[in-house]
Amino acid sequence: MHFVSLTDHTPGEHRVALTPNAAARLVDLGATVRLEAGYGGRSFFDDASYRDAGVDFAPRETLLREADVLLTLNPPDPDDLAMMPEGATVIGLMDPFRRTDVVRALVARKLAGICMELIPRSTYAQKMDVLSSQASLAGYAAVLRAAERIDKSFPMMSTPAGTIAPARVFVIGVGVAGLQAIATAKRLGARVDAYDTRPVVAEQVRSLGAKFVELDVGETGETEQGYAKELTPEQLEMQRQQMARVVAEADVVITTAQLFGRPAPRIVSAEMVAGMRPGSVVVDLAAGSGGNVEGSRPDEEVLTEEGIRIVGATNLPSSVARDAGQMFANNMVHLITHAWDAESGRMTLDPEEDPVVGACLLTQAGEVRDERVSKVLAEEDES
Ligand code: NAD
Repeated sequence: MHFVSLTDHTPGEHRVALTPNAAARLVDLGATVRLEAGYGGRSFFDDASYRDAGVDFAPRETLLREADVLLTLNPPDPDDLAMMPEGATVIGLMDPFRRTDVVRALVARKLAGICMELIPRSTYAQKMDVLSSQASLAGYAAVLRAAERIDKSFPMMSTPAGTIAPARVFVIGVGVAGLQAIATAKRLGARVDAYDTRPVVAEQVRSLGAKFVELDVGETGETEQGYAKELTPEQLEMQRQQMARVVAEADVVITTAQLFGRPAPRIVSAEMVAGMRPGSVVVDLAAGSGGNVEGSRPDEEVLTEEGIRIVGATNLPSSVARDAGQMFANNMVHLITHAWDAESGRMTLDPEEDPVVGACLLTQAGEVRDERVSKVLAEEDES
């Protein structure tokens, strides 16, 4: 079975889908792995490391035309998909609710599209869960970015010149990224408050030595998959009103709130940001999916009139590309190994028998298998 991966030209992307170690594991399974020359350069993996792992190199077009499986980190280019053999497989992040052009290209070419965002959040599938592995690194990197951009120290310091109070960090959204942000900020010596609409996380927040902020916004909850339920506009307004004081007292606000398959909730208003001390920093990890913070812009740092920096982060894992790529590649190899049939020396995709494949196989034989994504496509067709 021929696995290929292409050099990723997404601006700001330094991660690779396949590291030399991961490639070696695929070769051990009995697969062939082919890449473009210079593939790992942005993560400082040289061609020789891949060659040692058993990888061959070929031009992009050849790779695509002869691929059984295309491994990709970011959503693939629809023009590339059109060059692949019908019935081949594509594995990677697909951003399916927004990148409907990618979903349509998979369908048109009758490709099996394994969408890594749809890996179930089950204990068994944890090792394949790229959302978690990347969110963890994003949470860590968000704190480092804030620490670098703010005009004060994170830890408390007692010096002969006087005492410096610890930075106050407020983390909004305590999923995988939020938990890692809390842990990192604590390690740097900050005083940390955190809030989430899912009350189940309060204990986890406290166990990290942070304070859980209680807000009364009426009934909240989570879906079967553990994702937050969407708040009503009235609830979001109640949330903003009660949260304004905590935001005003914070030196750093890190927002990580996401809603699966929907735009991120708008939690921090421009007025709340304006209430912060000049020099404070807000890092919006949801900037790429609608933004939790009014005024944040994807991949930009905005300095407000009042002197508050809003960092709109979309790809912080790329700032720790070596580790993030390693984790991503490991997740993908776990998925491939899971679906590998040693007898035939191929991946077998049986969505009826295999619950992991059943959940993440987005397209197959010219059909979209995920109802939520089908709905988005139908709505697009109607409008
Ligand atoms: P996410 O990225 O979808 O969202 C981040 C956080 O934002 C969530 O905790 C969510 O509750 C919160 N949020 C949403 N709207 C909010 C609002 N208006 N105000 C404040 N917070 C808001 O979440 P995630 O990190 O992908 O995690 C989702 C769930 O999946 C969690 O329960 C997590 O523990 C669980 N999970 C389970 C597994 C597993 O079992 N294998 C793996 C990863 C995550």
